[in-house]
Amino acid sequence: MSCQSFHSLDCVCYSLTGIKHRYNCGHLIEAALAHHACFHNNDLLEPILKYVDLLIRTFGPGEELIHGYPGHPEIELALLRLYRLTQDKRHLQLASYFLSERGNPKSVAGKHFYTAEKEARGEREGEWPVYFPRDNPFRYQQAHLPITEQPTIEGHSVRATYLLTAVADLCSLDSEEAKATYLDSLHRLWSNMIGKKMYLTGGIGAIEQYEGFGIDYFLPQSANEGGCYAETCAAIGVVLLAERLLQLERKAEYADIMELCLYNAVLTGMSHDGKAFTYTNQLGSSNAELSERKDWFKCACCPPNVSRLVGYLGGFVWTHRNSARNVVEIDVHLYTTAILTIPVGGDSQVTVRQETDWPNDGKVTFTVEAPPVVDVNLRFRIPAWASDWKMDPALDGAVVEDRYVALPPYWVRRNPNFMLDIPMPSRLIAPHPYTNQPVAAVARGPLVYCVEDADNIWVDDHFKVSSPNSPSCGVPEMDADIPRSPSSSTPLQYSKKSSEQMFSKTRSLSVSAQ
Ligand SMILES: [Zn+2]
Repeated sequence: MSCQSFHSLDCVCYSLTGIKHRYNCGHLIEAALAHHACFHNNDLLEPILKYVDLLIRTFGPGEELIHGYPGHPEIELALLRLYRLTQDKRHLQLASYFLSERGNPKSVAGKHFYTAEKEARGEREGEWPVYFPRDNPFRYQQAHLPITEQPTIEGHSVRATYLLTAVADLCSLDSEEAKATYLDSLHRLWSNMIGKKMYLTGGIGAIEQYEGFGIDYFLPQSANEGGCYAETCAAIGVVLLAERLLQLERKAEYADIMELCLYNAVLTGMSHDGKAFTYTNQLGSSNAELSERKDWFKCACCPPNVSRLVGYLGGFVWTHRNSARNVVEIDVHLYTTAILTIPVGGDSQVTVRQETDWPNDGKVTFTVEAPPVVDVNLRFRIPAWASDWKMDPALDGAVVEDRYVALPPYWVRRNPNFMLDIPMPSRLIAPHPYTNQPVAAVARGPLVYCVEDADNIWVDDHFKVSSPNSPSCGVPEMDADIPRSPSSSTPLQYSKKSSEQMFSKTRSLSVSAQ
């Protein structure tokens, strides 16, 4: 875009409110960082740094600068990633400014920035794009209030998760001051999202009109019921946010949600052969809007975003740090076949291998190799859905903190090869009763199962509940061994025991279908 468009509110092409220049710029910064890491040169990074310099000269709290921030967050988290490489405080400060200025009702001459921008473009008062919420149009961009004053997560769901990912990043980088400012808000908005606005697959954003969150517990199953947009990118945003929160706090809830989204709302967005994709991930298909994967989309954000996330997966499996000389802390969040190597000085390193057929099987074998002088504190997550777990060799007196089992260094040294076994009985889960959805889903381990029309050509109603008492589509009551406790980290998943009366032998069972 023209540089001039940054400098004048009179410029007709100037629109931070809706246009995604800064969103695109954020992805370009991330591309430059990836290019720098892969090719060890500055061919892409150097021009991007000039672009960032222009942004620094344009936006900020100074009188002569524009007091604006992007309508679609992304550049904030990109600037913070850039700061990790450059250690240029200006990159940190610009990201911090974009976050703190957001939602300021008096940014420009006593007006909200987006209002001032709209007036500068000569647009009429009260005239907004159709997809902006009527009561407060800036809810769409999470700019209706300062982040610290927002009581609930609102608006466009991809924007919301990218915004909060940047907030979590800032808390990691700017330490105590940012934590004091934002940590409560992160907890509040995260809890509202996973407790009241998330599908039991991890999908978020029920409303198609603005690709975003509805009111609490408004979670229809399909488009022809008025909802279930659940964009693939939004689930990716949840994964990114959960991973950043895990860097701040070791809470199994974050890893549970990350895994739930990964298997049931992100990887589902791509076909096995990688050639077809979903943009929306509705749980129920319909004649009005079939659930099917397509080659491409006019707005093609989701397909490359899935590819990008798959490339990142190694970074989501564990977090680690050298907490002191010859002391390594490793937290295992996800189970998969993977190898982690941590340098511990000189030519020495700690290596942890895990091998498993997860999520098909709950047995995970670990192998730890470490120099004798190095203490390895290894912790691994017990998922919220697990009703049991055991170790071989047995671990007596295991210390479990927030569902992370801690293996002391002496035990790891004595048992460098061990196996974790987390049984995976199938279970029935259902949405929270407040959602008013008379459905259940079959889950096993982290997987929420679905049935698809393509595999069941005898079905002509997309597995819809045609009538609550219809014997024609009734199924026998299941005798599965169902866990009694609802998953604490996925509050919208309730075991069937908790809603036993919802079903009988003559009532139909609609299985979650994507
Ligand atoms: Zn997308």
